[in-house]
Amino acid sequence: MQIPVHKAAELKPKPDQAKLGFGRFFTDHMFVMEYRENQGWHQARIVPYAPLQLDPAALVFHYAQAVFEGMKAFRSPEGKVLLFRPEQNMRRLNRSNERMCIPAFDEQFMLGAIKKLVALEKDWIPTESGTSLYIRPFIIATDAVLGVRASSSYKFVVILSPVGPYYPEGINPISIHVECRYVRAVRGGTGSAKAAGNYAGGLKAQENSKKEGHAQVLWLDALEQKYVEEVGAMNVFFNLGGELVTPDLGDTILPGVTRDSVIKLLRSWNIPVVERRLSMDEVAAAQREGRLAEAFGCGTAAVISPIGKLSWQGTTIKIGGGKIGAVSRRLYDTITGIQNGVLPDQFQWTVDAES
Ligand SMILES: *Cc1c(COP(=O)(O)O)cnc(C)c1O
Repeated sequence: MQIPVHKAAELKPKPDQAKLGFGRFFTDHMFVMEYRENQGWHQARIVPYAPLQLDPAALVFHYAQAVFEGMKAFRSPEGKVLLFRPEQNMRRLNRSNERMCIPAFDEQFMLGAIKKLVALEKDWIPTESGTSLYIRPFIIATDAVLGVRASSSYKFVVILSPVGPYYPEGINPISIHVECRYVRAVRGGTGSAKAAGNYAGGLKAQENSKKEGHAQVLWLDALEQKYVEEVGAMNVFFNLGGELVTPDLGDTILPGVTRDSVIKLLRSWNIPVVERRLSMDEVAAAQREGRLAEAFGCGTAAVISPIGKLSWQGTTIKIGGGKIGAVSRRLYDTITGIQNGVLPDQFQWTVDAES
C-alpha cells in the first residue's frame, strides 16, 4: 500500500520548548487510514493536521469502541530520529483490537507509516532535556448506527505532539491515594487493552484523589481490593529489601513497554525482580520493618515516577524519605539515555525512523 503525502499549505509556528506541557500542541500533518468490510484497511495517507468529520451516530461516540497507543520519538545528538521499541506498541495495539472486536492491521506496514510521518515532522522533535515527540496512534469505530455491535468501518489515525518533561519541576516523588472504593479493571474485563473506555471509568477516582492533594491513584484488584495493580496509567514496582516486585500480568494489568524494559534492565544488572501478587498488607508490613526502600510507577509518558507516600485506609505509608531511590534514578537515567541515543543500546531497542 502506497502512502501519498498531501503537504500542508502553511506550517504552524513551533511552540516554545520550555512551555510544551503534555499533549497540548500538534504537528502539521497526521496519518489516516480507513477500514471497510470487503475492502480491509485501505486509503492510507498523510494529510494536513485537521479536525475529523464524523457522523454524530458514529459508534465510537456512543459505545467507546476505540483503542490507542502511546510512544515517543527522540532526536539523538547526531541528529538521528529514534523510536523506542515501536514494534511492541504495534503488537499491543493489535492485541487491544482483538479484545475490542476491531480488525487487525499489518504491523510492519503501520510501523513504516509511523516512521514516514515522524520523519516528515522531524523538525517538531524538541531537543531540550526531557522533551520528545509523543506519538498517538488510535482507532475509532465509524459506523453510523445506534445498535450495540461491532462496527464494520473504522478510522486509524496517528497524531504527533511535542511534549516537555512529564513533571516540569523535575522527578520528585509523588503522593498517591490507594483507591479502595472504585476499581479500574476486573478479571474478564478490558484492563489489559489500551481501550478508550477504561480511562473514562477511572476519572472519578482520579478527581477525588486530586481534591485530597494526591497526584494519582493506586488501583487495587477489583475482587478483594487487597492486591496492588497499577498507579494511574502506569505500571508499578516496589523495592522490598533489594528485591523489585511488580504485579504479574493478567486480564487486569496493561502490559507496559516500560515495565518490560525495566524488568530486562534489572535482570541485566543482576538486581532481583519478580512478577507476583503483592498485597497492600505486605507493602505496609515491609514499611514497618524498614524494608520498603522505594516504589515507582513507570510508563512512556513519565518514564519513571517515584512514589513518595501512599495514603491507604486513613494511614500514610512514607517511602524513601521524600527522595528518589537509587534504582529508580538508575532506571530513569538508563532508559532516557538509551531513548535519546546517548547511552549504548545493548538491547537494540531503538529504531531509526529514517532508515
Ligand atoms: C499505557 C499504559 C501503561 C504504560 O505502558 P507503556 O507501554 O509503558 O507506556 C500502564 N498502564 C496503563 C493503564 C496504560 O494505559
